[in-house]
Amino acid sequence: MHKISKLAVLTSGGDAPGMNPCIRAVVRTAIYNKLEVVGVRQGYKGLIENDMYDMEPRSVSNILSFGGTILKTARCLEFRTDEGMETAYQNLKAKGIDALVVIGGDGTFTGALRFSRKYPDIAVMGIPGTIDNDLCGTTYTLGFDTATNTVIEAIDKIRDTADAHDRLFFIEVMGRDSGAIALRAGISCGAEAILLPEKETAISELIDALKTGHLNKKSSSIVIVAEGDKNGGVYDIAKRVEQEVKHYDIKVTILGHLQRGGSPSSFDRILGSRLGFAAVNALIAGETQKMVGLEANHILLTSLEKALNQQEFRLESDLLQMADILSI
Ligand code: ATP
Repeated sequence: MHKISKLAVLTSGGDAPGMNPCIRAVVRTAIYNKLEVVGVRQGYKGLIENDMYDMEPRSVSNILSFGGTILKTARCLEFRTDEGMETAYQNLKAKGIDALVVIGGDGTFTGALRFSRKYPDIAVMGIPGTIDNDLCGTTYTLGFDTATNTVIEAIDKIRDTADAHDRLFFIEVMGRDSGAIALRAGISCGAEAILLPEKETAISELIDALKTGHLNKKSSSIVIVAEGDKNGGVYDIAKRVEQEVKHYDIKVTILGHLQRGGSPSSFDRILGSRLGFAAVNALIAGETQKMVGLEANHILLTSLEKALNQQEFRLESDLLQMADILSI
C-alpha cells in the first residue's frame, strides 16, 4: 500500500469550468491531512519542464467563481514518449512527490495510466474534468453542466432571431467524439433535429423532418450539429439542405470556444469540490490507478482502465428517443 506524504496536482487537455473549485478542494484537503502539495503548471508539460510550485491554502483563495484553470493546461506530445515520461518521473522523484492527481479527460487518463504502470511507486488518481461527459464511472464530468448551460443560453438567443425571420439555423456545438452537449442542449432548447457522432442521421431524413415541421406551422427551426457528426460538417450539411428546403432562410452559427469559458455553475462547483476531496481521501487510503466519479449521487472509484472503456459508454437511450418525439 502507498503511504503518501507529498502530492502534485495538474490540469491537462481541454480546460473545463469547475477545474478551479476542484484544485482548491485537492489543495485544502491535502493540507488538512498534513500532506505537502505541489501545483504543476500546464499539465504534463509542466512535469517534463519541472514547472511546479509549492501550494498552501491561500494559493487557492478566491478562485471558485473562475472558469479555466489557475494551473493552466496544455496538450503535450512529449509525454507520449518513454523519454518524456522518464523526465517527468525523475522531476517528481527529485521533489519527493509520491502521489499525482490529474484532472482531465480521456487523453489525460490514458497518459496517467501508462505512467502509473511504468512507475507504480507514484500513486495516481484521476478526476474527470472535461466538458465532453464521455467517461465511464461517472454520470457527469466536471464542466459539462456549465458548458451545456452556456450553449443553451446562446441557442435561446438564436431562437429569438430565428423565429422573428422564419429562419433555419444550423448550430455547431463542441463534441468531436461525444454528442453529450448537443443532445442535452437540443432537448433543452427544443431543437428540431440533433446530429451526433454516436448516431447516424441521413440528410434525406433531416430534410423530410424540416419539411414536415414547416407543414406543421413551425416558424423557425434549429438543427444542432455536434462537431464530430459524420455528415461532412455544418456548412456542408446546410448547403445540402438548402437545395431542398426553400421555405426558410438558412444560417449557420459555430459556437466555438465560448462553450469552454465562464463561471462554473453551482453543480460544477459542488462536483469539483466533491471529486477533489474524494480524490485526496482515496490516495490517503492507498488507492491508485483509479478515477473518482459520481454515480447516483455517490462517490465511486473506478479503475482508470474501465473509465476509458468506450465500449461501455453510451448516451442515454431515453434521451435520444425523446429528442425526436418532443420536437414534432
Ligand atoms: P479533453 O477531453 O478535454 O480533450 P483530454 O484529457 O482528453 O481532454 P487530450 O489532449 O486528449 O485531452 O490529452 C491530454 C494530454 O494527455 C495529451 O496532451 C498528452 O500529453 C496526454 N496523453 C494523451 N494520450 C496519451 C498517451 N497515449 N500516452 C501518454 N500521454 C497521453
